[in-house]
Amino acid sequence: MKLYNTLSKKKEEFVPLEEGKVRMYVCGPTVYNFIHIGNARPMIIFDTVRRYFEYKGYDVNYVSNFTDVDDKIIKKAIEEGVTADEISRRYIAECKKDMEGMNVKPATTHPLATQEIGGMIEMIRTLMEKGYAYEKNGTVYFRTRQFKDYGKLSHKNLDDLRSGERSLLVTGEDEKEDPLDFVLWKPKKEGEPSWESPWSDGRPGWHIECSEMSKKYLGEQIDIHAGGEDLVFPHHENEIAQSEAANGKEFAKYWMHNAFLNIDNRKMSKSLGNFRTVREISEQYDLQILRFFMLSAHYRSPLNFSAELMEASKSGLERIVNAADSLKFLMENAKTEEMTEAENQAFGKTEAFVKAFESAMEDDFNTADAVASVFELVKYSNTTADGDSSKEYLQKLLERLVSLTDVLGLIVDRKEEMLDEEIEELIQERQAARKAKDFARADAIRDELLLKGIILKDTREGVQWKRA
Ligand code: AMP
Ligand code: ZN
Repeated sequence: MKLYNTLSKKKEEFVPLEEGKVRMYVCGPTVYNFIHIGNARPMIIFDTVRRYFEYKGYDVNYVSNFTDVDDKIIKKAIEEGVTADEISRRYIAECKKDMEGMNVKPATTHPLATQEIGGMIEMIRTLMEKGYAYEKNGTVYFRTRQFKDYGKLSHKNLDDLRSGERSLLVTGEDEKEDPLDFVLWKPKKEGEPSWESPWSDGRPGWHIECSEMSKKYLGEQIDIHAGGEDLVFPHHENEIAQSEAANGKEFAKYWMHNAFLNIDNRKMSKSLGNFRTVREISEQYDLQILRFFMLSAHYRSPLNFSAELMEASKSGLERIVNAADSLKFLMENAKTEEMTEAENQAFGKTEAFVKAFESAMEDDFNTADAVASVFELVKYSNTTADGDSSKEYLQKLLERLVSLTDVLGLIVDRKEEMLDEEIEELIQERQAARKAKDFARADAIRDELLLKGIILKDTREGVQWKRA
């Protein structure tokens, strides 16, 4: 299996550190709002990578954090007049709902930065003892030049960085020994969440979070570290510096980065304000369609979000679901049980589609080609399965189709439509919750309905609903 390693800028053969096991860490979102579909790209991509390893029989330990302490979370908490904890807890719960809608498996562990502060302090202490870190007025900095391999991931040269950074020097940072040094620990400002440490009451820098959580849940050396390409520098470069300086070992063997999800050819981001949340998309489409859309391009190619591509994804997914549906229908009505010799041979021919699917996935997870092989199988199924087919043949075709779509995380079962009465009942329950001022429950019902494709509209005449 080959994967592109940002570290070597080459496709490399995957050799696990420990046979049959994959240890991977994927940087997760900062939780101060609903996730947008740019954030969803790494979630879907690396979930698919995980699923393929599992399909190949690997035992995957998949760790993905939530950054639940950050300037943006604090700002949002102040705006709403609630605690930072409330903001992060709320958006972690919302993020998990979106993940479920996109059929992204929960990680083996989803650590929260705020629960791991003790370990981070220990790591910073080790870095200080080894001469890789120093303290100034309660702030602890990493001594970047001390780490000889700095720049090896982003392929940047320290002196180029230095000349670029000089103009970026901001006031208050002149206490650093070198402009390239970055923060490991910073003292709190008034009203901010803080933890005690040997240097000041404060909080960790962002980069140290991932170094520590990766070490705690996966060990000092891991197979794969992943995230969006904006994280290569400085986040991942700094993680390497911290982890390798503290542990004295190579941190991750393979570094994987997805390209951006763009809109009008610009990166979708919260700061540019050009984002669409996963929740908004779910008002228009089943989130399986969003997943299919993400997989229709190679993960290292930029992908432009558009209504046309979403419509194409909708009909693409529909073709697969229809084929599965038709196999199920034929199975129920099949006249014979066992496969004939001719069917046995016909089924043998589907091996070729599985091989093509696996070769695509093993060539740096070329999901676009893998999807094409699924379509080949669909076409074959549509042309060879009919009212005369045996139940066994139909079942085997269906199992084969499901084994491939499962790797892609695509669900081929037609979703059971919610019955009108069920919807009405939930709406009644929501009205009752509102009356009782249990707004959390009322919102939860609205979201539950939304993820099932039911949109509510509160009007003066009462609640109206429609199917997305
Ligand atoms: P953030 O919450 O900004 O730290 O992002 C969480 C994850 O989403 C990181 O892996 C980012 O690289 C990734 N990400 C953010 N925006 C995009 C985008 N427009 N396209 C692809 N990945 C993104
Ligand atoms: Zn990270």
